[in-house]
Amino acid sequence: MEESKFSEEVIEQIKDIIPWGLSDENNLLIDKLILNDNLKTRYKTYGLCRECYQPNTSCDTSDFGYVYWCQSCNATRFEQDFKNWTSGDHHVDELVQKSQLKAKNYKEVIEWYNYQFEDVKTLIKDKSGITYTASWYGDLCMLEWDYVRNSWKRYNPGRVILRYLHDEPDNPVEFLKKVESRIAMNGSPNSARLYGITKDPKTGNFMMVMELKHIINFRDCVKNSNNNDRLKLLRDIARGLKDIHNNGLIHRNFHCGSLSIELDHAFYIVSITDLGSSQPANPKSIQDDQVQVYGVLPYVAPEILVGNEHTQAADIYGFGMIAYEIMTKLPPYHDVAHDESLASRICQGLRPSFNCKVPPLILDIIQRCWDADPSNRPNANELYSLLYKFGFDAFFVQSSLAYRQVLEAYKINSSSFTGFKDIKLHPQAVYTSKLLTFKDLPNPQNADVDQI
Ligand SMILES: [Zn+2]
Repeated sequence: MEESKFSEEVIEQIKDIIPWGLSDENNLLIDKLILNDNLKTRYKTYGLCRECYQPNTSCDTSDFGYVYWCQSCNATRFEQDFKNWTSGDHHVDELVQKSQLKAKNYKEVIEWYNYQFEDVKTLIKDKSGITYTASWYGDLCMLEWDYVRNSWKRYNPGRVILRYLHDEPDNPVEFLKKVESRIAMNGSPNSARLYGITKDPKTGNFMMVMELKHIINFRDCVKNSNNNDRLKLLRDIARGLKDIHNNGLIHRNFHCGSLSIELDHAFYIVSITDLGSSQPANPKSIQDDQVQVYGVLPYVAPEILVGNEHTQAADIYGFGMIAYEIMTKLPPYHDVAHDESLASRICQGLRPSFNCKVPPLILDIIQRCWDADPSNRPNANELYSLLYKFGFDAFFVQSSLAYRQVLEAYKINSSSFTGFKDIKLHPQAVYTSKLLTFKDLPNPQNADVDQI
């Protein structure tokens, strides 16, 4: 289907009008000239491309001001440049080219970068791969087309992440599946941006080049958070999860270590990391009645512990545990060993206990996320809208139940809540991902916690 476009006559009449803050007279003219609602909205929101005079496909704010994007003009530019570069692997080339042709804004573009990194330091080494931080020199990342210089405007993002995945040596197809998952998240404000792909000349391994946020530790963030921070964290994590699920993806290893928290002018900005690379390709196997799962035990849904497939509902269970930790400042099951006995009790219905007053509406959301029956858990869209409404009411609507509940919890907790200060973790309480092996766990069920 051919996309509708402005005709030459329409362009002639509107090209000198600035679409923002239209006078009544110009508004009438626009309404008369542009009958296609989609084109009209794009024109009024994103303005006209300076090259083809069709409406832009996006206008984003960036650290460098507004960034306008015309998909059609930029796709043509990219296509003309395809012959000038190659990664040496046609699968990689195709994926990069696809993103460049499809991009409707600057964040959706990825590029192939020749290896131009220095001062490379290992940040995290785990089962799934190695994450490095590095300084970038050379072409740097793309922002928008510079009509004056007739070239791409680029900027230096400072230090970046280089991410190498263990399970893809000699298998770029597997690597590219993970890259595709990341590209899908590039438009989300709560996700570290993927800039492109490079190849380590020493090892020959492909690596993702990603944004490095000024990360602070999740526990430090929670420890220092106030009531407002905590409600905002809950809402923003739910939004990140909603974006993942609405892209048809499953995180599969959602725990507090999957969150990257950035402190920006006294506000916490949370991103969900490690999507699509958080576990080995075939982490779960059932052999001789044994179930093997890769994850952090307190955050793994009981149905996964007994060998079921990962689902979005299992991510929601993990969210319930993260929400528990944010509200209580206690890591779930911090005072017991994370072993088979705990896994068994979780299947029997054990859930963490609360050390403080949590607003009942939030408590109800957490407990729904923890339900042993995945179909009783809220989905990510519902979760986000519940938490968005709760946060809005608690901040702004004094007559609301949320406002009263937050105030009441605050009063009770300020007199009795000791918080995180004197928490001692059990020596066998493990909060990093590992391979968990279980046998003969009971079928998951809900239960009265006191009976377990
Ligand atoms: Zn254009």
